[in-house]
Amino acid sequence: MNLVILGAPGAGKGAQSRNLSKHYSILHISTGDMLRHEMEIKSPIGISIEERMNKGELVPDDVVTELLKERLRSSDASKGIILDGYPRNLYQAEIMESFVVIDKVISIDVPDEVIVSRMSGRLICPNCGASFNIHYHPPIKKGICDVCGTKLVKRDDDKAKTVKKRLKTYHKETEPIKEFFRKKSKLVEIDGTNDIEVITEEIIKALGDV
Ligand code: AMP
Repeated sequence: MNLVILGAPGAGKGAQSRNLSKHYSILHISTGDMLRHEMEIKSPIGISIEERMNKGELVPDDVVTELLKERLRSSDASKGIILDGYPRNLYQAEIMESFVVIDKVISIDVPDEVIVSRMSGRLICPNCGASFNIHYHPPIKKGICDVCGTKLVKRDDDKAKTVKKRLKTYHKETEPIKEFFRKKSKLVEIDGTNDIEVITEEIIKALGDV
């Protein structure tokens, strides 16, 4: 089963992708994580996208598309995948059809004001990727990852001004994709304001026997 997960930054795409990947034993591919990795290792791609990433802007379509295709070629995607962060605009939605067949697109819908409040408290683990929130889901020990004990950090692109910019980009560039997939009867819309586990259950129920 091949899935796409859509949602504004902070809608919970990462957490849902991890849960669904475990539940269906499918591969979780996050283009945001892939791009951050390129920045960390300071590869030529990483250096070329750093400024845009930190400003909350999308990176060029060809850069992310080539990275994703390479990742799909080199991974075992036989049981299926869940794509988190791609497609991000209509161009990517269209080109995606030339290299992967998607069964369903899950949109996690959360109002902007909830997103802004969530993101202002978000902390992530730079080691294992676990995500916490000082308001909604604090780590047991302040500033330390519950899973692996690493010091938690705030992502550069989670700063308030950048969050607003990323939301604007989401509404302008990414939201029109919903209509694209709705017309193909592939869109599943889920209320993303509930608890993480409740949302996962709802998605699994909505997917039925896809
Ligand atoms: P995310 O972790 O999905 O929120 O992505 C973090 C950042 O990576 C975004 O703000 C963009 O700068 C970049 N990014 C991730 N996926 C894409 C994509 N499909 N197209 C363009 N930029 C992307």
